[in-house]
Amino acid sequence: MNKFKLIGAAIVVIVAASFTVQSDKELAEHADRLHKVIFSVDTHTDTAIHINHPKGKVDADGNWDGQVSFSKMKEGGLDACFFAIFLSQGPRDVETLKKETQYAIDEINLFKEYVNNHSDEAEVAYCADDLYKIKNKGKSVVIFAIENGYALGKDIKNVEMFAKMGVKAITLSHNYNNDICDASRDSVAEWHGLSPFGYEVVGEMNRCGVIVDVSHTSTETLFDCVKASAAPVIATHSCVWNIKDHPRNLKDDEIKAIASTGGLIQVTTGRWALSWLPNEQVNVSTMCDHIEYVRNLVGVEHVGVGTDFDGGGGMNGLEDATKMKNITIELLRRGWSDEDLKLFWGDNFIRVLRQVEKIAKEAAAN
Ligand SMILES: [Zn+2]
Repeated sequence: MNKFKLIGAAIVVIVAASFTVQSDKELAEHADRLHKVIFSVDTHTDTAIHINHPKGKVDADGNWDGQVSFSKMKEGGLDACFFAIFLSQGPRDVETLKKETQYAIDEINLFKEYVNNHSDEAEVAYCADDLYKIKNKGKSVVIFAIENGYALGKDIKNVEMFAKMGVKAITLSHNYNNDICDASRDSVAEWHGLSPFGYEVVGEMNRCGVIVDVSHTSTETLFDCVKASAAPVIATHSCVWNIKDHPRNLKDDEIKAIASTGGLIQVTTGRWALSWLPNEQVNVSTMCDHIEYVRNLVGVEHVGVGTDFDGGGGMNGLEDATKMKNITIELLRRGWSDEDLKLFWGDNFIRVLRQVEKIAKEAAAN
């Protein structure tokens, strides 16, 4: 062996020794340690309405027993959830719109009452400063959101009204067009993006510190929001079109556009979004393929999780909120650093919320 071969062999030995493969047990312990100190958030669940009106999956006392509860979040090392008030798209006459707005108000108030009745377990977060504060009290963090801007009706004043109630994000549409914008599942383009009222809504959301959520909206709407919003735009529960070509998923140019605002692509967990493979073959690894795709395209600063639990989310290995650490374990196995996992799980979201709050504060000062 000549001198150069000897040096080469020595380098191989050193490099091999520096890679310690962690066992499953070590990975699980690593995830446990990490989740104690980082802040973690799931940016989409449909749990609130089920807790408000339990039926179907209920326990012996008649309480909702679905994929998310404060105790399940705790077991899974999940600090915070968006508890979205969901409205399916219906008629758009003035009378119906008024009723839908009232419905959203009532559901928020009802869930707030539930949180107050469980004040030993959870608290509502009204701003970014509340997030770590509530976690450090050992409680679950409730973040209010509305899924479908239909709740706003055609009255711009409703944005401020919901913001004052604590709503931190509004998904502009559900599957079908509304008075704000076109949606991803509708067969016709009614506005070709945001409507004139939709532009007003985005501006008002910026002014009031409410995050613009483009999950469910059409591609034209997404690009209009990216141009119109002064604050970062996020997709609270969407996956990658290049892995599964589903109309709800995001193409590369959409992912890049969201990232260009400083925003987030929060990967969701339903098989409908993740893969065309049969159910039994879709698991946490499939989800992590979507997560890594987004990271590789736009950077770890722009990716996180929005499960859609209690609304169609969940798959093998991530059946409910108790299993959240399985995502961390899979990403650790793939070589993710603690720093990147901290960004992914919550610090990205905190950065976005702070930016949204800063822009609202500046608007108030002008
Ligand atoms: Zn949804």
